[in-house]
Amino acid sequence: MGVLRRLGGHPALDFVNTVDPREGDEQIEYLNSFEDLVQWAVRGRLIDAPTARVARTQAARSGSAGAGALTRAMNLREALYAIFGAIAAGRRLPRGAVAELESAWREAMAHAHLTAARPGFRWKLTAALDVVRWQIARDAVALLESDRLDRIKRCPGSQACGWLFLDASRNASRRWCSMDGCGNCAKVRRYVARHRRDGSSCSPGIPRSGIGLPMNSRRHA
Ligand SMILES: [Zn+2]
Repeated sequence: MGVLRRLGGHPALDFVNTVDPREGDEQIEYLNSFEDLVQWAVRGRLIDAPTARVARTQAARSGSAGAGALTRAMNLREALYAIFGAIAAGRRLPRGAVAELESAWREAMAHAHLTAARPGFRWKLTAALDVVRWQIARDAVALLESDRLDRIKRCPGSQACGWLFLDASRNASRRWCSMDGCGNCAKVRRYVARHRRDGSSCSPGIPRSGIGLPMNSRRHA
């Protein structure tokens, strides 16, 4: 299992994309422990190192504390997948998922303090066991409040990729989670179809030989 790429263009969508692919049987889960969650958040600058230290200390106090926080974070992740997946598909938001996000956001705001920043002020979350979940809830709500909802897309790649991303291209033309992953895969499939060879499955992570096009691993490079 290699390094997970952040292709979502937004922390809430990157969080959704911590399972690869989002659908199908052979999923790789990237957040298997509380420590995985904390490391993922620190690398993405969702929380700073001192905050991570407090979260780790609280998790170490009891055997189940970290596991409980991970479960709560995973519940939020699946709710966000349902919410932003529905937005990408132009569907109505699922009520249960919205309730899950609302509850995480309320919890976050109950632990937020208005602190001086330069310039102005910002909400700072109390360092605690659930701080990653709270931060993601805040980010997700900010995205929902933005005018960028029509830029949220779901990758149609093979192997039921399903990763979500915010399309920041000038003419809203981005289609794939990555050009070297699912985008290249589709190119290879078109090439194969044109040359009437076997047009079977194309796995984004596994290079195929003998096609004549470079197949780079997308997330596990
Ligand atoms: Zn994809």
